[in-house]
Formats: sequence, structure tokens, C-alpha cells
Amino acid sequence: MLRIKINGIVQGVGFRPFVYKTAIELGLKGYVLNSTSGVEIEACGMEKNLELFVERIKKEHPPAAFIREFHIEEKEDVPYTEFTIQQSQNRKGSTQISPDLAVCKDCIRELFDESDPRFNYAFLNCTNCGPRYSIIENTPYDRPVTSMKNFKMCEYCNGEYTDPLNRRFHAQPIACPTCGPQLKFLNKNFEEVESDPITNTIKFLKEGKIIGIKGIGGFHIACDATNYETVSELRKRKDRPHKPFAVMCYYEKTSEVVEMSEEHFELLKSPAAPIVILPKKETSPIQNNVAPQNPNLGVFLPYAPIHHQILSNELPFLIMTSGNFHDEPIAAEEKELSGLCDFFLTHNRPILNRSDDSVIRVSKPQNVMMRKSRGYVPSPLKLPFKTVQTLGAGAELKITFALSKEDSFFLSPYIGNSNSKQTLDFYTDTLKKYKKWFELEPELVVCDLHPDYMTTRFAESTGLPLKKVQHHHAHIAAVMAEHHINEPVIGIAYDGTGYGTDGAIWGGEIFLADYSKFERLFHLNYMPLPGGDAAIKHPIRIAYAYLLAAGIDPDFLENISEIEKRIISKQIKNKFNIFQTSSMGRLFDCVAAMLDLFPEITFEAQSAMALEFLSAEKDVSGKDNYPYNLEKDKIDIIPLIRAVAKDVQRKEPHHRIAEKFHSTIINFTLEAVKKAHRKTGIRKVVLSGGVMQNKVLLEGISKVLTKNNFTVFVPSILPSNDGSISVGQVVVGNKKLKIEN
Ligand code: ZN
Ligand code: ZN
Ligand code: FE
Repeated sequence: MLRIKINGIVQGVGFRPFVYKTAIELGLKGYVLNSTSGVEIEACGMEKNLELFVERIKKEHPPAAFIREFHIEEKEDVPYTEFTIQQSQNRKGSTQISPDLAVCKDCIRELFDESDPRFNYAFLNCTNCGPRYSIIENTPYDRPVTSMKNFKMCEYCNGEYTDPLNRRFHAQPIACPTCGPQLKFLNKNFEEVESDPITNTIKFLKEGKIIGIKGIGGFHIACDATNYETVSELRKRKDRPHKPFAVMCYYEKTSEVVEMSEEHFELLKSPAAPIVILPKKETSPIQNNVAPQNPNLGVFLPYAPIHHQILSNELPFLIMTSGNFHDEPIAAEEKELSGLCDFFLTHNRPILNRSDDSVIRVSKPQNVMMRKSRGYVPSPLKLPFKTVQTLGAGAELKITFALSKEDSFFLSPYIGNSNSKQTLDFYTDTLKKYKKWFELEPELVVCDLHPDYMTTRFAESTGLPLKKVQHHHAHIAAVMAEHHINEPVIGIAYDGTGYGTDGAIWGGEIFLADYSKFERLFHLNYMPLPGGDAAIKHPIRIAYAYLLAAGIDPDFLENISEIEKRIISKQIKNKFNIFQTSSMGRLFDCVAAMLDLFPEITFEAQSAMALEFLSAEKDVSGKDNYPYNLEKDKIDIIPLIRAVAKDVQRKEPHHRIAEKFHSTIINFTLEAVKKAHRKTGIRKVVLSGGVMQNKVLLEGISKVLTKNNFTVFVPSILPSNDGSISVGQVVVGNKKLKIEN
């Protein structure tokens, strides 16, 4: 007899029925049950069939399941007479929650099968698919503690729910048109509009209307991506002039708008159904204002039944952007989107836990996670060492928190990008739930050094033992944790903003780092940032200040007023309201402004993206570059700024300037890392920070370092931006704690 213990994501994903069916097929006797740590199986039968059983569990398990550990023990045979699914032993303590899963093939088939009782029913699901995280109120996952609790199962559904051989055996959100949630179509004043909600939605989308659609993790704001006027109207209403929108594509039509490989299509089709950023096709029918001045497009596939009902060959490309104002959290109720939408397609199944769509950018050597949220949270991830129960509070942008217990951590969904009350409420509310679900009570809180971050103030208000971690140390440590590195590394953080230990704004940093400490080996030399955060929105002011500091007459700059010039000159002269910064993000802003790319920054990493796109040559390593000085611990960028200014005035083509600029950064990075290696003997290099979302830079630096026999680690399953600061805080905070005790 075999006793098998499996853990990972194995509950609420159809694992037990799958095991049951497989055992029956192989004529085995025994049982399967959900235990506190996963799934437990005992199986007796012919040797050959037992081997096959194990093999099939490993290979053919449900698509949404994830096996972390597989433990097999040989035992004395027990005289079982049949194979059963047993009642779970101890329901308490089972703390795994599956992420929300895209609707599966079998359910889609039913959705369009006129003879099926769930034909055209927007809430069908099975053990392989459907909402999980977004509908849960408490653990262990069971219908009475989900948002389905008020929908009493009908006889038909109950029959399936209790049949171990049925695809819907113990599918907690099981529903049908008789007993489940219903759609509703509302006008902008939230009054119900008669006639079929789906038909209405399709009709009005085709007419160019903007519609709020209640999905899985929150509302989308939808409109036809092939309609220029509608897209402009959406930009106006959302006050979002430039930031690209993602487009949901009708399956086969995806390849009409982006270049994609089989592998990319698989990623799009995966149960997490993330937004994947891929190169736009020249001939694409998608309007230019969907992703302005951007060679890429974020695409994703229908993942809720409702999406499949709306998209079709006649309506194949929809902008489906997060339903929110500016950088606020995503809305769970239509009322929150008042003024943004012409109509609403909504329903009566509450969204208890919000999560935005996840975003992945295709890259080499590994894809880059830009936002880890729906489809991935709240799956636990492994840390390289054991921790006390810890809260990593996060940063100020791309806010997430991380909660750890032993060597696992749970990352929150993407919370928001602001320090508003709504963001804080979503943060504290989600934190409260995570603590309850995962039975976690932090003994340690870790936050950023920045005194004014909302997350810092929150951390301080908890009254728990507190550690503060420098922003870029957290960036580097997060990547180390992802790769389970347990030795000192050369850590590179090319980033926008992070509070330094000297009170300056850091962001072009090369550290010697381990989890407990860091030494600042190199950084960009300090440049004057006028007016702090206000200048970040107006890159021309940064360029003006940088040029003055570089001893260059900035008069060639256009689009800067005489008043602005006067104020900045005065600020620099009097050293008043000037911040010192080594930020790589600001250097990109400075160059983008010299090239007059855009008057205003309206989203993070805009300059880093724009310069990447300008660079016609994608592999610029070892190419022509601008001068710089590497001395002691400084990477002096003044020669670089002077040379760019000269090229701009000489009217060198913009793409050439962008290429040379990237090539310069790649070169000085390599030279600095070589020097760091000579000093430390270390060959492991970690790349991190928001600017590393720039592919020319990330791939270029990875390539030259690898060529020079360095081992390079890049963020892949965690975001390289501030979305993973919370994870870095957890690991650094714990090592600091250990050293003190
Ligand atoms: Zn299904
Ligand atoms: Zn029913
Ligand atoms: Fe950062």
C-alpha cells in the first residue's frame, strides 16, 4: 500500500475528484482526503497500477493545481473494500486559498451549448475553474464562507456537487440559472435597463459607449479598442493621457494585433490569464491612442464566462482597463465608478476580495512580472530561510504588503498607487483578512526608511517591534529571496526614487549586499532635483537643473517658461528646495526632456519606456557610447549629460541618442561591476529596480555581465518595481533581528 502526502495548491482545484477517478480507473482501493497541509491518499492495488497511479497524479493533475511536495511511503496493506473521498479530518488549519481561475474549456463548451442547462449562463464554473480568492470570506474554503452563501443550491446543482465522479463535485461556487447569481444592466444613473444584459452590452459597446463590467477581481471599464473617439473619451474621463491600456482579445484574433509565439499563447491561456505585453503588429486594427508611442500592446484573453459572452468575431478587441479613478484601488461596486461609465453590466454576486489583472512582460532570459495580482494571489511563495511572523509594509508606489510565517510568505494583491484614504482602507482591510485566513499574527513589522510613506506611518502605528530597511536594499533582497541566494552579491538597483541613509534620494545604486546589510560601492553622482516631487512630473525642470549643474547653457531647451528658469536658477544658487539625487529614473527623465519627448510625466517609468522604444537597435551592448567617469564610489554622469546635450543641439537622430545613452549605462555598469568584483571576489550579480523594466537595459546588462563570467539574477516571479519591496523588507528585517539577538 502507498501512503501519499501532497502539498501545494491542491485544495479547491478539483484534486480529490481527479485522484478518485484515477484510482477507480486503475482498480485501486483506499481513500483521498483534504488534510491540514494538503491532500492525503492511501491506495492499495497491483504494483504496476500503483506506479501508474503516482505517475498520473504527477502528470495529469488538474491544470490549476500546483504540486510543491510529493511524499510517498510504503505501508502494510489495509483491507479497503473500495476507494472513497473521505470527509476531511481536521478542517481547521487548512490555510491554502486558490487564486481565481480562468473558466475552463469544458465550461466554455457548456456555455455555448443550447441543450445544456447552463447555456448562456454567466456564472458557470467547476472544480477546475472559476472564482476562488475573490469570493472567499474565511478559511477553510467552503460554500457557507463564500459570497455564494446566499444562493441556495438547487436539486440539479446539488446532485452534481455531491457526485464524486462529476466535474462539479464540491465545486463551492457551483450555480445554474435556477439557483445562482443573475446579471443586470444599468444606465449611468444606476437604473435597471430592460432586455437582455449581454445583448445590451454588446450593442452599446459596438455603438462606442463606455461600459463598466463587473468581473472577477473587480470592475473593468470596457470600450471598443478599434474606435478612436471612444478611446479618447475614455482617456479624458479617466484623466489618463498616455499610459497604455490593455486589450482583451477574442481568442484567434489575438495574433492579428500582436506578434506571439506558441509559448506566449500558452501563458495567455493559463488559468491565471494574465495581461501579456507583446510587440504590436503594424497592421493592427487597434487604434493608436490605446498605447500611444508604444511599440507594444498588453493583451489578455477572456477569462470569465461573461467575457466569452461579450467578445466575438464581430467585437474582437475591447479595452478592459481597471475600474478605478487615477491610481486608486479597483472598484468592487458600480457606485464607485459614477461619472466614468455610460452603462454598467453588473450582477448580484459580491466581490469580497479585489485584485487587479496581473501583468507580465515578455523578455529574455526570463519574462518580467510587472504586476502580480489576480490569478496568482494569494498563493504562498517560499523564502530561503525561516522567519518570525513578519509584516513587510511595502513602499509608496505599486503598494503591496507581504506576510511571512516560517519559510513561506503571502504577497497581497496589488493595492494601489497613491496615499489616499481609499488605498489605506483597502490595505488595512486586506491585511486584516490575510492575518485571519493564514492564522498569522506578526511579531515584527518592517518598513521603508522614508519617514513620509503612508506604509511607514502605518507600520509605526502598529506598535509592534519595527525595523526600517533602505529602499534599494529591499529591492536587491527581494530578488535574492526569489532566487534563494544565501551569500553576498553585487546588487544593482536602477530605480526612480528611494530614501537614502544620508537623506538624499537614491536610485542609481550598486551595492555589496547580503540580507542583513549593504555597502554602497557605486552610485550615480548627486544631481540637483528642484522642488522634489513636483519636478518629477515636469521632466523639463530636471533637464534644466541637470544642465546647469553640468555647466552647460540650457537655453536650447524648449517648452520651459522664463519663470520656471528663473525659479530653478535661484533654487540652485541658494541651495533652497533642492534635493540631491542619484536616481537613474531622473537621468532618464533628463534625457527624455532634452529630446522633448513629452511635456509631462503621467505614469511611472514613462521616460525609461519612451527611451527604450526610441532605441531602434535593441541590442546596443558594446556599441558606440557617451563618456562618463568612474572614480572611487561615483559614476560621474556629467560628461554623459554634456555629450547628450551636444548631440541634441547638433540634431543627431533621436534613436541614435537613445541607443548611445543605453549603451553608456550598460558600459559603466559593467565597468563598475568588474571593479566591485576585484574588490570583493563576488561573481553573483542581482538586477533590480523599476528602471530595469526597460528591456534594452535589462537584456543588455544581463548579456555583457554573463559574457564576462558573472552569474546574473533578474526578478521574474516577483515584480522588479516597488511591488516586491515588501518581500525584501521581510527578509532583511528578519536577518537584522537575528543579528541583534
Ligand atoms: Zn470549468
Ligand atoms: Zn442550480
Ligand atoms: Fe523602487
